[in-house]
Amino acid sequence: MSALTQTQIEMLKERMLTRRGELVTEIKDKLAESREHSSLTTLEQRLEGGDSALADLIASTDMAMVRRDVEEMREIDAAIGRIESRAYGDCAECGEPIAFARLEAEPTATRCVRDQERWEREHGKGPGHSL
Ligand SMILES: [Zn+2]
Repeated sequence: MSALTQTQIEMLKERMLTRRGELVTEIKDKLAESREHSSLTTLEQRLEGGDSALADLIASTDMAMVRRDVEEMREIDAAIGRIESRAYGDCAECGEPIAFARLEAEPTATRCVRDQERWEREHGKGPGHSL
């Protein structure tokens, strides 16, 4: 069970919805920008006989920027879903309440500090490094 008060949850939800709005704008801007870039690159290629590897690099960089935003948006949607199902604020690993201070810093957090640190340690080392 979450240890958060309704007021705290509402505050975090409000913040996530604001951030979500920013992300939607950012994604739209970046997509529009990358379309401009790619048409410009295509034009330059036609003029110069071009380097398609560079064009691919630019395209993939733009997509990577958008992908991060899309991922963050998905995390926000998942967190709001957890609020609705009253699972928000509980650690996905141990079920203990996540500290409000941690959620304030990262409203989409799904693990308590201890489990997050362990997860990062395990995944940072890569597969096949267990006992
Ligand atoms: Zn935990």
